[in-house]
Amino acid sequence: MTRVFALLALLFCAALAPAADAPKPEDFVTVQKGTLPIILSAPHGGSKIAPDVPERVGKGVTNFQTVLDTNTAPLTEKLAAEIEKELKGKPWVVIARFERKIADVNRAPKDAYESDKAKPFYDAYHEALATACKAVKDKHGRGLLLDIHGQAVHLDAICRGTQNLKTVTLLKEREGFPAINGKYSLLGRMERNGYKVMPAGDDPNDAKEVPKFTGGHIVGTYGSHTAYGIDAIQLEFGSNFRAREKYATTAKDLADAVLVFYDAYLKDAKKEKP
Ligand SMILES: [Zn+2]
Repeated sequence: MTRVFALLALLFCAALAPAADAPKPEDFVTVQKGTLPIILSAPHGGSKIAPDVPERVGKGVTNFQTVLDTNTAPLTEKLAAEIEKELKGKPWVVIARFERKIADVNRAPKDAYESDKAKPFYDAYHEALATACKAVKDKHGRGLLLDIHGQAVHLDAICRGTQNLKTVTLLKEREGFPAINGKYSLLGRMERNGYKVMPAGDDPNDAKEVPKFTGGHIVGTYGSHTAYGIDAIQLEFGSNFRAREKYATTAKDLADAVLVFYDAYLKDAKKEKP
C-alpha cells in the first residue's frame, strides 16, 4: 500500500514539474553575438509552435496581424553568412522562431501579446536586441540595425521604414541625406542593383515613406533618435524577393549593399569615438 502511495506521489510530482527538456522561450529566439557594428533582426519569420501558449485574438488592437513574413528567417541567416564572409567579422543576429500568432515583437507590449505565457517570448527577443544595441554602441559608437520583414502589397519593391527618417537621425545629421538614399547608401545600392525601392532615391518627396510601412516598434525603440542610438531601418521585402528560389539572391545583393554602406559610413566608426 505504502509503495503504491509513493508511486502515486512520484507521478503527481512529475506531472507538476516541467520536464527537464521542455523548450524555454530563449530556445525560440536565435541569437548570434557579433563583432561588427551591424545588427540584423527578423521578428516575423518564425513558425515553431510553442506548446501551451494561446494564440492572440487581437481584440481592440489596431493593425492586428498574425501572418508569417515568409522566408525572412532564412534570408536573414544567408545575409549574416554573406556579411561574415566579406567583412571577416560577425554581425549581431536576432531571429524569432516562435509564431507571430502568440507574440508580435514589432508591437509595443500592450498590443504584442495577450497571455502571460507569451510574455517571456516577447521579452527574450527584446532582451537580445537591447543587448546587441548596447554592445554595438559601447564598442563602435554607432551602428546599423536592419529589421527584416516581408510585405505582399508591392510585390516587386522594398519599402523603407525609418518613421520618415526619425530612426536614422544620427546618420542624417552626420552624413546628410545621401547616406540614406545616395550612391553609397544601403537602399541606393539596392536600387543600382536593379531593385525597386519605395520611396525611390530620386523621389523629390523622399521623406514620405509608404504609410503602412513607415517602421514599427523595433526601429522606433532602438533607432538613433533614442538613447540606444543605433541607426535603424525597417526593410519590407515584396513577396517576389522572398520566393523560395529568390531569397538567397536577395540576401546576397543586400549583403553587397551592406558592404558598400559599411565602407562609406561605418568602418571608421571607432576612430571618431572620443
Ligand atoms: Zn513583418
